[in-house]
Amino acid sequence: MAACLLKSCRLALPRAQGFLCHERGLSSSSIISSTVCSFSRRQAIKAVLSNSACIYQKTKKLQRGMMSSRIMGRLYCSSSGVCWNCSAELSRSATSSGGPRVGALFCASCNMIQPLEDGLNSFQIMGKEEKFDMDVQDLTNSFRDLQRLLHPDKFSNKSEIEQSYSAAQSSAVNRAYKVLLKPLSRGLYLLELRGFSIEEGESNIDPVFLMEVMEINEQIADTDDLDTIRRMGKDNSVILNAHLDELQAAFNKADYSGARETLMRLKYYANIDDKVKEKLGTD
Ligand SMILES: [Zn+2]
Repeated sequence: MAACLLKSCRLALPRAQGFLCHERGLSSSSIISSTVCSFSRRQAIKAVLSNSACIYQKTKKLQRGMMSSRIMGRLYCSSSGVCWNCSAELSRSATSSGGPRVGALFCASCNMIQPLEDGLNSFQIMGKEEKFDMDVQDLTNSFRDLQRLLHPDKFSNKSEIEQSYSAAQSSAVNRAYKVLLKPLSRGLYLLELRGFSIEEGESNIDPVFLMEVMEINEQIADTDDLDTIRRMGKDNSVILNAHLDELQAAFNKADYSGARETLMRLKYYANIDDKVKEKLGTD
């Protein structure tokens, strides 16, 4: 056997060359026979991109008996806590605050980008405390810092596996930033994390309130007078801000039912705000 049996998936399994290459004498025949596989690089990359979850878990049914779980777990499980390239211990995020989790993104020993950890929420991805109150400028700074490190453009000359990790990490940061940036989506998201999510289309809202909101929407739609729209926008901002304060207070008290109620109304005022900005061309 002159060639490494895992040559076909060499790029997907960079460590496999070290572990398993027959020529280098690093493997035993029993490991070789338990790891010769039809696992294609394409499948590996796809699974990493789609969810960075432990690839072994996702593919073991397909690849039953063909991969050693120990080695696959070591190479691919993003919760394994060790670098996929050099097996050094990683400093995992685990914290709920404290800025960009660089220790979890790159191996301190070999500096290699790591797969996205499983089960991180948007606050953890951005390295922010899990609370409604958010310094938006600080969030934006963290977003830029993270993208400077993770953006796929930075990995264009790297291996396919590094590119896939960069793409997965970078898009997770994009999604997290988008969710946390605006108070409405941040509030809805936090509520969901606390188990009080608002379902799509759910509305047990006071019909009088709904009528009022509908009227405002109609007035905005019917007028092209910019001063009128500006005035309506200003009035709406006052109500919007009052609701944001109310929401903040509810979250501070861990009153999630109250937060839920406020958010249901806030959605309508945020919608009016969008309409105003659209009409004024300032969105
Ligand atoms: Zn490493």
